[in-house]
Amino acid sequence: MTTITQVTVEPVSRPLDDPFEIALGTRESARNVLVTVETDAGTVGYGEGSPLPPVTGETQEGAVATASAAGTLAEGRNLGDYRALVRDVRSAFPGAVSTTFAIETAVLDAYCRERDLPLAALFGGRPTTVSTDLTIPIVSPASAARRAERAATAGFDDLKVKAGSNLEDDVERVLAVHEAAPDAALKVDANQGWTPKETRRFVTELRNHGVELAVLEQPVRSDDVAGLARVRDHVDVPVAADEAVFTPGDAIGIVRQHAADVLNVKLGKSGLLGAAQIAAVAEAANLELMVGCMLESAIGIHASAHLVAGMGTFEYVDLDGNLLLAEDVVDTEFGPDIRPRGPGHGITPAQ
Ligand code: MG
Repeated sequence: MTTITQVTVEPVSRPLDDPFEIALGTRESARNVLVTVETDAGTVGYGEGSPLPPVTGETQEGAVATASAAGTLAEGRNLGDYRALVRDVRSAFPGAVSTTFAIETAVLDAYCRERDLPLAALFGGRPTTVSTDLTIPIVSPASAARRAERAATAGFDDLKVKAGSNLEDDVERVLAVHEAAPDAALKVDANQGWTPKETRRFVTELRNHGVELAVLEQPVRSDDVAGLARVRDHVDVPVAADEAVFTPGDAIGIVRQHAADVLNVKLGKSGLLGAAQIAAVAEAANLELMVGCMLESAIGIHASAHLVAGMGTFEYVDLDGNLLLAEDVVDTEFGPDIRPRGPGHGITPAQ
């Protein structure tokens, strides 16, 4: 029975290899928060959150302040009561989703390291290899094609193309990717950039060019669940909800309105335990699951990979945030395979 003695919070800014543009804006760097939890047994656990202002409503400055306050709430608590602790932290700071994910990861990491368990074991499985797709941001068709070629050469079978800017440009980008990597399964993520009508036009145009999508993600605004349901009625591509689902309650709303075929779960939205609850809703409602990420380093990415390996119910994996960073916290190869290992999430950042 060990107690959390100290929670340390620091801002960590990580430059990206290239600017990363999506329909919600352009990022030059990941402005993250690193949380370290120490126990009276001398165990240390690490967690990282990657606030994404247009999605999570958090900034790095706010995340540091919130994580520090949440850390105070965690200090003195028993590590073995991690579920109650996570619930208290998340309900004290309900909007600070990626920040509380950082705290939660550090707590669960310490819990598992203390017991010499891989984090995947908390979710019922072993830390087996997880294969991710690679995301191609909003770039010119030529640049998209170069990225797709490089990805195919590195062994990526799945690519996610960002869209939602201008419909004609979006179509051109996807066609360029398909031409450069004809064997890759393609997801398209419009990040809320289209209307339901534009979404239908996009799917029709791609089909006219002989391109079938594996998944179409969050084409319309996150608050337009009825619009998402209309899209789902009118296109025969699996539709995924991402920004529309932060909590298990949101997932139930999607199920009730028959608004999606796939739920994109991100630990930076729901946390680890919340993600497992959303996965349970999806399983009960016969929806498929995707796991996504923000711009986390290997700390957040491997925590997510442990959840995926542990649960075994994720059909689509989009855990490439650390591949977009100029430098990761550990040596990371450019390729689809993530090899999580324990104890905990297995990643110890260099001090
Ligand atoms: Mg998305």
